[in-house]
Amino acid sequence: MSDNSDPVNTPLANIPLAGVLGWPVAHSRSPRLHGHWLKRYGIAGHYVPLPVRPEHLAEALRSLPKLGFVGVNVTIPHKEAVLALADVVTDRAALIGAANTLILRTDGKIHADNTDGYGFIANLRQNAPNWRPDSGPAAVIGAGGAARAVVASLLDAGVPEVRIANRTRIRAEQIRSEFGARVVVYDWGQAANMLEGIATVVNATSLGMEGKGALRVPLDALSPGTLATDLVYTPLDTPFLIEARRRGCQTVDGLGMLLHQAAPGFERWFGQRPEVDDQLRAVVLA
Ligand code: NAP
Repeated sequence: MSDNSDPVNTPLANIPLAGVLGWPVAHSRSPRLHGHWLKRYGIAGHYVPLPVRPEHLAEALRSLPKLGFVGVNVTIPHKEAVLALADVVTDRAALIGAANTLILRTDGKIHADNTDGYGFIANLRQNAPNWRPDSGPAAVIGAGGAARAVVASLLDAGVPEVRIANRTRIRAEQIRSEFGARVVVYDWGQAANMLEGIATVVNATSLGMEGKGALRVPLDALSPGTLATDLVYTPLDTPFLIEARRRGCQTVDGLGMLLHQAAPGFERWFGQRPEVDDQLRAVVLA
């Protein structure tokens, strides 16, 4: 007689697997984040780091469904490359030009989405509930991959104008040409001027991160009450946020964006909408 509780007989194929694809990937906080949710909701699934070299990306993606993977997050340096390998790309991932969440469908097709902009807005809505996107222009410092997601989500949320300044001006010009006339480009040397009369300011550069240079844009033109947020979350309280707060601004750190961007993927893969709360923050920070 067979014993159904025998782990040898457990159909492993029914235990969903997910992970994060990157190179390197050991630093990623995603396994800890998703691992917490799996435990909290009692889900029999696993989420693992998947170190994959760029030259092995296509082969790895093709193999994952056969190994029981239902989806993956994608991080540096694969976020752009996966778009060309996906069968279905959401409009927002196509507009941003990068994907961070893949669903490996049972029909073998790869569905690519970008949830960074969703995570960015969800973080502001949770931690600055009085913030009104339509209350004035927003300024975005930086024009890299994350800035593209931020600009797309701000426009989508109803911000009337998004001002951008980036060290390499052409990247900001590119965003303007792709995202339309509500985007206004400022010269990097004039970045301080774009802060005049804004309701929201975002540091979307890597400046201010531990081990990187300082963000030197003067914040004198910021009005008290402006919402300031930073994508950098190491340290959690960046010099940019500290200075903005000193000027009477409301501040929101970047960790919440990381937590919220993970939620749609978890829900699709494991069938449970997860909660972003203080317990999760503590686990990810530990
Ligand atoms: P990226 O594509 O490499 O862009 C980096 C940005 O920083 C560019 O605008 C770049 O300007 C600017 N920059 C770098 N060094 C600079 C310097 N010395 N002087 C002036 N500007 C400089 O990176 P990304 O993916 O957009 O990420 C940007 C930051 O957001 C990173 O710190 C990342 O960790 C963080 N992030 C956080 C979350 C979250 O969930 N909180 C999500 C995504 C990203 P140039 O174009 O001139 O090089």
